[in-house]
Amino acid sequence: MHLTIKRPARVRAVCRPWPPKGPFNLLIHCDRHRAERVWWVKSCPEYKDLVESSAAYRNTPFLIIGAGAAALGAASTLIDGGAKPLIVDKGRRPGGRVATQRPSRTSAHWFDTGAQYFTARDTEFRALVEEDVGRGTLTRWQPRVVVATARLETGFEQFTLHDSPDARERFIGPNGLKTWLAERLFELPAEMLPATRVERVWSEANSWRAQTTDGTTVEAARVLITTPPVQAEAMLGQTARAIDALASADRHMAGCQTVVVSAPAHPHFDAAFVHGAKLAWIADNASKYAQATGPTHYWTLHAGVDYSTQYIDAEPSDLAAELLEEFTAITGFERSRIEFVHGHRWRYARPSPSAPEPAEPPYAGLPDNGLALAGDWLAGGRIEGAWRSGVAAARALLDA
Ligand SMILES: Cc1cc2nc3c(=O)[nH]c(=O)nc-3n(C[C@H](O)[C@H](O)[C@H](O)COP(=O)(O)OP(=O)(O)OC[C@H]3O[C@@H](n4cnc5c(N)ncnc54)[C@H](O)[C@@H]3O)c2cc1C
Repeated sequence: MHLTIKRPARVRAVCRPWPPKGPFNLLIHCDRHRAERVWWVKSCPEYKDLVESSAAYRNTPFLIIGAGAAALGAASTLIDGGAKPLIVDKGRRPGGRVATQRPSRTSAHWFDTGAQYFTARDTEFRALVEEDVGRGTLTRWQPRVVVATARLETGFEQFTLHDSPDARERFIGPNGLKTWLAERLFELPAEMLPATRVERVWSEANSWRAQTTDGTTVEAARVLITTPPVQAEAMLGQTARAIDALASADRHMAGCQTVVVSAPAHPHFDAAFVHGAKLAWIADNASKYAQATGPTHYWTLHAGVDYSTQYIDAEPSDLAAELLEEFTAITGFERSRIEFVHGHRWRYARPSPSAPEPAEPPYAGLPDNGLALAGDWLAGGRIEGAWRSGVAAARALLDA
């Protein structure tokens, strides 16, 4: 990929290393923001003109669509197999449903809005996780977890709390899960195109073509799609009909309404599984920080599947009042000490009961024709499942 770097007044220096080894090794310092990779620069409207791709037509042996946990498994496997993939994602930063945000760009606080932690049972995945724990990019999270069970008393929702018996080993990123996943992807010798939505994927003359919304056509010998199934079905058009796993794709995923609030610390617990209520999970992100960050704590509140499904078209901010009321009833915090900070609607959060039964190996597609599908929805959900699915799909393409 050829890059043209222009230098508007606001950018102080373009450096390290120069000339760039690849688009994501290039760092740009500017007055307002700290050094960032081109990944971010390209997708930041202020700097859009800084980086220009000379090619409206690209050619690659392996195209990976989506840059989440499945893409990490897939890209690493392809690279180990001697291939260099191109990864495209519609998002400005990689991660997908592994999502971490800050209340403001300069804030020391952060909160995980999508996946909260993950488990590692698979031997290969475990090896990667242990390596990253050793490097300090992942850490074990040992929160005080309770189960909050709703009961109706004199017309009001009350909660009974007891310690959760679920003592599984949980892994988190010490700077947020997304930071871990993005850094892992950036380390790979793979090219990445952010803020690039694929509209259509079709086969032509023994190879695949992907059309992006910016008008680029990518030609690829093999394509690995890691998006949720509805998006995969939409981009594949007629080809989707040949893939059994995509039948009824619109019913494969359940949504989740998420709200983040600032509130005090709780004296007795850091996180709670919530039963029989609108909420399903609450967690104090400060319990994940390596160092204390003061009295403000950002709590992530995930609504349950039933409630989220019922209100999936609502704006999360419109649901905040109801969810905060329940949060108050669980925690006992005074309502005046809780403030709505952020909301996110995950339309395709996790596999629903209608998702295909996980197969072994957990991928789908037409590998003999150079097309594979991967993602958590093919592997029973979760980050570990997504990663395993990406690995399996990449192996199928390498072996085909
Ligand atoms: C609220 C919530 C809570 C969760 N909690 C947990 C948890 O505690 N533990 C756990 O293990 N898992 C949890 N999960 C599930 C976990 O986040 C997922 O299993 C995992 O991140 C899925 O990874 P993936 O790569 O399969 O898909 P995704 O992360 O969805 O990646 C797909 C990528 O494709 C991109 N994309 C989509 N369409 C296009 C297009 N047309 N063109 C280009 N790119 C496109 C998207 O931008 C996205 O980056 C949670 C998920 C949610 C939403």
